[in-house]
Amino acid sequence: MFEQAVYDVLDYDVSVKADPMSQSISGTTIMTARVVIPTNVIVVDLDTPLAVEKVTEGGSVVRYQRKEGRIWIWFPMTKQAGEIIKTSISYAGKPRLAPNPPWVGGFMWKKTPNGADWISVALQNDGADLLFPCKDHPSDKAATSSMHITVPDPLIGVGPGKAAGTKKNSDGTTTFSWRMTNPISNYSLVFNAAPYRLIKDSVKSITGEDIPIEFYILPENIEKGRKLIDETKKYNAFFEKYLGPFPFRSQKLGIVETPHLGMEHSTAIAYGNQYKFAEDGLDWLMLHEFGHEWWANLVTASDWRDFWIHEGFQSFLDTLWVEETKGKEAYFTAMKNRQRGFKNRQPVAPREPKIAYQVYMSEPDYLNSDGDIYGKGAYILHTLRYLIGDEKFFRSLRRMSYPTKEMEAITDGRQTRLVTTDDFKTIAEQESGIELGWFFELYLRQPKLPRLIQEGTQFRWETPNDLPFPMPIDVVVDGKTQRVEMRDGKGSVNAAGGPLVVDPHGWVLRAQ
Ligand SMILES: [Zn+2]
Repeated sequence: MFEQAVYDVLDYDVSVKADPMSQSISGTTIMTARVVIPTNVIVVDLDTPLAVEKVTEGGSVVRYQRKEGRIWIWFPMTKQAGEIIKTSISYAGKPRLAPNPPWVGGFMWKKTPNGADWISVALQNDGADLLFPCKDHPSDKAATSSMHITVPDPLIGVGPGKAAGTKKNSDGTTTFSWRMTNPISNYSLVFNAAPYRLIKDSVKSITGEDIPIEFYILPENIEKGRKLIDETKKYNAFFEKYLGPFPFRSQKLGIVETPHLGMEHSTAIAYGNQYKFAEDGLDWLMLHEFGHEWWANLVTASDWRDFWIHEGFQSFLDTLWVEETKGKEAYFTAMKNRQRGFKNRQPVAPREPKIAYQVYMSEPDYLNSDGDIYGKGAYILHTLRYLIGDEKFFRSLRRMSYPTKEMEAITDGRQTRLVTTDDFKTIAEQESGIELGWFFELYLRQPKLPRLIQEGTQFRWETPNDLPFPMPIDVVVDGKTQRVEMRDGKGSVNAAGGPLVVDPHGWVLRAQ
């Protein structure tokens, strides 16, 4: 909306006091922003259960009005483009409880297995305004941010970035400060609190730098936590090999044990998979959430319509891990299994702006994911890999992560980017030398899958709205694989009459 487009957030300084007894919070958020269009009014989001107590700008009390989940703030004089505003909002209330975290989010006031208080927040789909007043749009990440978390003793409040001091208060609480000096999405500006213990470790990046590891863990799980760290080091080597260095090595590789399954909170990844390691040691949840440090936190969709760049890219990497550890056949099987999860009800990457829930779920109840931005997104990348070949595909992936080699060396925040689906199309076209408009149009901009029609040795694509689809396909004839080129959506094989096996590896995503 216009009253939010007029400013660009530079920094959030979020102070929040959480009281498990009353399940309520109170706090003050100081938002520093640059005015980009002259204005005397701005709009900030804050969830309805939280009441505004005071608003100041530059230290002076200013007029505000609450309208549903928004705060309209008026300045006495028009702020000019380029002017810096410093808006402080004090608020309090009982924040929304999470009905189905992490998917339908909010606050969790839980107990650890030992009976201690355990506070957690997850709100990716709902918006960070469930916790603090903010401009709740993915296109505006604060360049830097601070959190000051006040919780009753002996809880420890964990936030993003680096620990920036603790202060014991006279009322039996302690304030834990955190400072993040890289850009961060609003939904990662959350905290968890419990009587955590801290496991410290480090891992060497491919850059040669040491990445500090900090795992805030329940005391009863320390041994399992060490195993999770060893696993995570392997995942880091894997992601760095394909995507470039861990993007937040100037901050930390942080993990926090949570009562919900997990979330990719940058530098403080929420982990709640209860150490369910597979036989080979894999913790799929940790692999997935940690990979989001690249696909979501380094490279962020500028609107939720491109949410698949987070979930589809990372789901592809999850499956690539199978190839890395178990070989190509296992990879093909794992990718084929993904196809059971698609619904094909709406485009994976719609062109119009969307809120997160609209893209995540087509069901009106907003309770179950369609799976399309995950599995279908991953499968689309798998098919692109077949179309342009491994070398060009993996170069495209790497450039989507870091567009240049120079950017891989940057750690001050400028390495992070806001992206769109078309950015990836451009990269894949530049790397492959192939025009890919038809590929993106069919797979990402409309929901239905193409169907391969076979008549004897002849093949043709049947596509929704007769979209062009010159997608080649493998056909095995007498034990030999032929790549049928399908120019104009048609092709044929030379066969003497033996049985034909179409696309035995399942490279090409199509209606079954
Ligand atoms: Zn995910």
